Amino acid sequence: MFAMKASTLILVVGLLLTAAFLLLAEREPAVRLAPAEAVLGFGFGGSAQPDQGGASASDDLVMQPALMQPGPTGREVQARQTFTPAPEGVRPYLPILMYHYVRYVDRAVDPLGFGLSVTPEQFAAQLAWLHSNGYETVSMADVARCIRGEGPCPARAVALTFDDGYLDAYTEALPRLVAYGSTATFYIVSDFIGRPGYMGWEELRALRDAGMEIGAHSVNHPDLTRMRLDELRDQVGRSGAVLAAELGQPIVSFCYPLGRYNDTVMAVTREAGYRSATTTRTDLSQYDPFALPRLRISGDTSQARFEEMIRAYLP
Ligand SMILES: [Zn+2]
Repeated sequence: MFAMKASTLILVVGLLLTAAFLLLAEREPAVRLAPAEAVLGFGFGGSAQPDQGGASASDDLVMQPALMQPGPTGREVQARQTFTPAPEGVRPYLPILMYHYVRYVDRAVDPLGFGLSVTPEQFAAQLAWLHSNGYETVSMADVARCIRGEGPCPARAVALTFDDGYLDAYTEALPRLVAYGSTATFYIVSDFIGRPGYMGWEELRALRDAGMEIGAHSVNHPDLTRMRLDELRDQVGRSGAVLAAELGQPIVSFCYPLGRYNDTVMAVTREAGYRSATTTRTDLSQYDPFALPRLRISGDTSQARFEEMIRAYLP
């Protein structure tokens, strides 16, 4: 009887300690980083996204521990390091590339779709060039660790990201990524899983099992700057929670739908337990993990232009 009580006590103490640790670990930074634009002096008045009103609910935010992950272990971040580290203290720029579709689109018929797509051949050529020029690919979890100063940064690496969870991520992108020993991060809209044209759980599990990172991209792809705080929390938190529960791993990377975000959206994303969030902007520094810039790769990105973009950051 006594033994049972003791073990119960140990369990309770352990849980309390874990909870306390998680609270402390996830509440960083105590002082929120200024938006990168403000730091860079771009004159946007400190607003993360100047062209939108957004909800001015920042003041009402109650800093509370996030509930998106299934349990204490869910908050741990995999420290799988597959890249060649830069010398200690050196933090090279990490180009983050943004893709949507890997497919064929007739530009004349669907100019918008063309802009969001690269052909399988274009994508393979890009991977081949990265591979043969000594670039490595890293996950957004790796990027988040590097930016936060947690462990080494990759010396010469590029992060590939795919938005929205289209089916061709599985049919076209995955086999080519695997062929070049590359990794990528796939941002998934949780309510779109299994819809026509989108990946289902089977495909997402295959991505996971191939070493790809799965990130969240909201529940149904709304403009997160235009909703009530409770809706915002649901969109941000539940999308990751659904993915984490089904895939059995923490979801640490988020991508703002439509590239829309503001200070409130950033704060909620941080509170929800994510480690980074990507935008669709290119003019940001890489100092705020919740406002990361990306380089758009589209149908009219020639191979020469692609190489030029990467070399501009990593000669
Ligand atoms: Zn999207």
